Amino acid sequence: MAHTRVNVIVPATAESSYLIYIGAGLLASLWPEIERRWPNRKAFVVTDVNLVKAGLFAQLLGGRDVPHFVIDPPGEAAKHLQTITAMVEAMERAFLGRDTLVVALGGGTVGDMAGFAAAIFKRGVPVVQIPTTTVAQADSSIGGKTGVDSTLSKNAYGCFWHPAAVYIDPATLRTLDDRQYRAGLVESVKHAAIADAGYFDYIENHIDAILARDTDVLAHIACENCRIKAAVVAEDPTEKNKRRILNYGHTLGHAVESASGFALLHGQAVAIGMIAAGLIEELTGLVGDDRLKRIRGLLEQLGQPTRIPPEITQETLIDLLKRDKKAVGQWPRFVLLEQLGRAGRQNDQWAHEVRPEIVEAVIDQLRAS
Ligand code: NAD
Repeated sequence: MAHTRVNVIVPATAESSYLIYIGAGLLASLWPEIERRWPNRKAFVVTDVNLVKAGLFAQLLGGRDVPHFVIDPPGEAAKHLQTITAMVEAMERAFLGRDTLVVALGGGTVGDMAGFAAAIFKRGVPVVQIPTTTVAQADSSIGGKTGVDSTLSKNAYGCFWHPAAVYIDPATLRTLDDRQYRAGLVESVKHAAIADAGYFDYIENHIDAILARDTDVLAHIACENCRIKAAVVAEDPTEKNKRRILNYGHTLGHAVESASGFALLHGQAVAIGMIAAGLIEELTGLVGDDRLKRIRGLLEQLGQPTRIPPEITQETLIDLLKRDKKAVGQWPRFVLLEQLGRAGRQNDQWAHEVRPEIVEAVIDQLRAS
């Protein structure tokens, strides 16, 4: 393809792997490529109403009449089983069978739902991911996690279903709302912090271009994110140990996100969680450099919160931490850095045991002033 910048091979499982194509402007010429690569499959496109409004759905199909499902209203509110039922039945109504290729165009919610529907339709059909948000391009489209929420918790229903391919066009980010755009960049800071100090320097040095949505810089960032996430997923596809480093900032982040009643976006809450991890590192004597200062500075430049909103109580957060889905004995573990660009291990585990009183002290510190 003309716009391909990089191919990252992800050994998804022992017997399969997939490629990630990255290039500014690739969306407009992507459909012939999909037809060429999957000539014997019938495509079914899943997207949401904002992608239609932004003109990206039309750009992908270029006037072709392809069976599709438009999620409306979009976002997390739609990420439940009823939407999956409607999606699967739309495929049946279009007389689609086991030779279907699901094509997901959108953010993480579209990708998670389309991937899940593909995993269960006729016992499983392939899915191609075309992510269009900073969260989806850095994170959710890679790694094979799919699913929907229950009325009680996020991603309660789900499975691993690796994509057949991922196509990332950073130019699609131009129409994304600024708050969403910036919050999604926190996952890029996370990747740099856990895995690559040079990448962290790059983000620091290109912050103006990133905020201006320069597509060359965004294409580079997409490559770095894919390279890092792909390497971690390849090593531990089903999250037995190493993959947990991707949860850096997420332990307290999830609790803060939930305690805010989802008023804070995921990335905003993870930003606070990353600062919390840095403070835990300080209190447990793991610090020997200026990494917390640099991480905080970068998050502030991205306009992300670095303190816990005062209306969220310590009690609420501790209660949520005890219920964390990855808790062991009602207390979660925390991913901590050894140095900027490298996550650390404790007794061969990538998630550290941290005493509750340390976490309480950190929460106090993050709520103060
Ligand atoms: P999202 O899919 O809800 O998209 C955010 C908003 O932006 C939506 O309103 C959407 O319609 C709109 N939008 C998307 N692309 C656009 C574009 N290019 N132009 C204009 N508007 C656009 O949210 P998200 O932040 O992309 O994803 C969050 C979801 O991803 C959560 O459900 C989370 O659980 C999931 N997630 C999954 C994984 C995984 O590994 N599977 C990882 C991280 C997050």
